[in-house]
Amino acid sequence: MPIYEFHCNKCDQDFEYLILGSDKPECSSCSSGDVSKLISACSYVSSGSGGGGGGASSSASSSCGGCSASSCAGCGH
Ligand SMILES: [Zn+2]
Repeated sequence: MPIYEFHCNKCDQDFEYLILGSDKPECSSCSSGDVSKLISACSYVSSGSGGGGGGASSSASSSCGGCSASSCAGCGH
């Protein structure tokens, strides 16, 4: 699931928002649409693959090491 982090320009609050389709993010506290997207690390840290972090040497370079998404701005892929 693509969860992105946003910053509200109105009340200065950071919040996470799950983007579904063409959904427009709204501030979770003031409901303002005046928000900017933050580049954040994947909020999805998989607990299945053991260890923690790293993953540079593992399998596919086409998929993000921090999450199961095929593209993740936060992880640089
Ligand atoms: Zn706000």
